[in-house]
Amino acid sequence: MTSTPVIERSPKTWDETKTTTCYMCACRCGIKVYLKDGSITYIEGNRDHPVNKGVICGKGAAGIKQHTSPSRLSKPLLRVGERGAGEFKEIEWDEALSLATRWFSDVRKSDPKKLAFFTGRDQSQGLTSWWATQFGTPNYAAHGGFCSVNMAAAGLYTFGGAFWEFGEPDWEHTKYFMLFGVAEDHGSNPIKAGIGKLKRRGAKFVSINPIKTGYSAVADEWIGIRPGTDGLFVGALIHELARCEIRLHQSDQDGIFRSRR
Ligand code: SF4
Repeated sequence: MTSTPVIERSPKTWDETKTTTCYMCACRCGIKVYLKDGSITYIEGNRDHPVNKGVICGKGAAGIKQHTSPSRLSKPLLRVGERGAGEFKEIEWDEALSLATRWFSDVRKSDPKKLAFFTGRDQSQGLTSWWATQFGTPNYAAHGGFCSVNMAAAGLYTFGGAFWEFGEPDWEHTKYFMLFGVAEDHGSNPIKAGIGKLKRRGAKFVSINPIKTGYSAVADEWIGIRPGTDGLFVGALIHELARCEIRLHQSDQDGIFRSRR
């Protein structure tokens, strides 16, 4: 008589877990990362995280590819063909650093301000900005300045919170929510959950975006702004608010003078 083979239906695929935040979009959902022998095997939403409460989107779960994608750069690349031809060869770090040192020192000797220094989305912008100022150029920027750093700063200044590691908007008390040009490639589960809360409470949701998809499609009001004119639109809003404020202030002053007479 042959014995029935025992099938392990739920093998343990990790020996360690780490709690952190997802960097696949600006919402920074809480995640649990499972590792085996130091390599990531699985990512899931962290149920104890106050913002996403365990929810994770496909993009967040695919964060594992940041580490395991075969197209991930593992060494510096040196262009060997014509600019734009896409021809590169891998070089060692020592060679990359000595090349960069030579290029940078030539610029620095002639005029450091000739260096325009731009970095991608990362959490070391304090360091890269410091490096640029030490080099002697005021011409530096990073991805965040065009994207989610503004969102975080504006959120903190207006409705009391933002994503990133700064919590989230005050969904419980917001009465009028304006969403400017959110990229539709962001899963942004916390924004979806927050908009659901606003709509249940009857708060007004206005979406300012050239296209009427995603969030704009469920907004109470869609303002299909011409691309690149958001700054003018916001400037006009501030102008009107300031004008109303001045009028109110003047009528208060008139009231004070009348009561004194
Ligand atoms: S919405 Fe998705 S991609 Fe964005 S932080 Fe959350 S899990 Fe990551």
